[in-house]
Amino acid sequence: MTWFLRGFLFYGLSEEILGLTTFKHGVHPEEHKALSCDQAIEDLPLPDDVYIPLQQHIGRPCSPVVQKKDEVKTGQLIGKAEGFVSSPVHASVTGSVKAVGLFLNSMGVRVPMIQIERSGDDVWQLLDKPDDWQKATPDELGRVVFEAGIVGMGGAAFPSHVKLKVSPEKPIDAFILNGCECEPYLTCDHRMMLERTDQVLLGMAIIMKILDVKKGFIGVENNKPDAIALLNERIKACGYDYKVMPMKVKYPQGAEKMLIKAILKRNVPAGGLPGDVGVIVHNVGTAVAVMEAVTEGKPLISRVVAVTGDGLSSPKNLQVRIGTPLKHAISFCGGLKDTAAQVFMGGPMMGFSQFDLSVPMVKATSGVVCTSQVKEFSQVTYPCIRCNSCVSACPVFLLPNRLSRLAEKAIFDEAEDFGILNCIECGSCVYVCPSHIPILQWIRVGKFRVNELKRKAAV
Ligand code: SF4
Ligand code: SF4
Repeated sequence: MTWFLRGFLFYGLSEEILGLTTFKHGVHPEEHKALSCDQAIEDLPLPDDVYIPLQQHIGRPCSPVVQKKDEVKTGQLIGKAEGFVSSPVHASVTGSVKAVGLFLNSMGVRVPMIQIERSGDDVWQLLDKPDDWQKATPDELGRVVFEAGIVGMGGAAFPSHVKLKVSPEKPIDAFILNGCECEPYLTCDHRMMLERTDQVLLGMAIIMKILDVKKGFIGVENNKPDAIALLNERIKACGYDYKVMPMKVKYPQGAEKMLIKAILKRNVPAGGLPGDVGVIVHNVGTAVAVMEAVTEGKPLISRVVAVTGDGLSSPKNLQVRIGTPLKHAISFCGGLKDTAAQVFMGGPMMGFSQFDLSVPMVKATSGVVCTSQVKEFSQVTYPCIRCNSCVSACPVFLLPNRLSRLAEKAIFDEAEDFGILNCIECGSCVYVCPSHIPILQWIRVGKFRVNELKRKAAV
């Protein structure tokens, strides 16, 4: 048997033997989780000022319900949701409102935010919650999730109460808890599964009660064997009927469509949602936020963030208040090394490079990654050599080279025909491109313009 054939058989069979599931295409970025995966979650000291954006979610922005000089308590509503696909925001510290105005966000855009100057320790204002969540109705639990301002904390920031509202036309029969954390540097979900295992499982139980589903799966990449073992142990001890699914380490394993394909072998149609195939997916952090809201009455005012990278002195996993400036967390981690070259909000695959470290961390910030190697635009770009690597990497079977070119040439109708809106912005195409073409950046421009043209056409 040739080495090629042996390798092929081993590659194909090993996943079966190991019980690992995965999806087609994707990439294998070099892993850097060892920098912070053994660091227990620490509380980041409260900052002097927080900057809370009125839009931290997909959907309509909130309207401010406070004004300059108002005194606010931790957990108090400061921005009310406008419509169903929207999510309220709350004060993350106790203090006084210093400004309601425009401040820079992580995308480099000045957007409406509420600046609060902290006056001291927390004085809490909690939500109304049911006395016993097990006796509450799905609608009552869904109301708490909405009022707590919970959004997808894996990065998508879609309002969670919307995902939990099941339509009779599209029944849901399975729930997947996403513990993959496939970005090569991030470790916050890993630490939560290790340190807050029972809270994660309780959050999952509450979500499944709201959805009224019995089949529960937890997808975890196989590079977290300690989390897989502990989840299995606690599931058994607590009497849950959930199945932990070890997944092959591959990027973007944690994307909803990839996870559903790998675990349930169902294909979410192009342009469709997980609900179209009877599944809802939520992230580990979202489950903990749901648990805290429903059992403790706490709105989403803080989250765990992996502050890491080889350009940082002392990588950590931190519990941070929403609205805390990046520089406060970086300074608590010993500051940037002399070799630091780039800071990403989020992981380097899907995150955004930052030029101002005063921007705030928000509900969807899972990581702050400081690298000593410059990526993307700062490299020299060469012409496309038609190697097809980007096509082979794309997990949703698009033609990234073509889409990028069409966006660059402003041929948006054709870009739409070629499925530009189905791009999940995973960055796999950019990662493999030998010509360093900013494929994803052009696709983002194209998606923005296609959506804009569609909105104008609908008016
Ligand atoms: S085209 Fe979009 S979905 Fe495909 S690899 Fe590139 S970023 Fe990912
Ligand atoms: S990976 Fe880069 S060089 Fe290769 S086909 Fe895609 S865009 Fe062209």
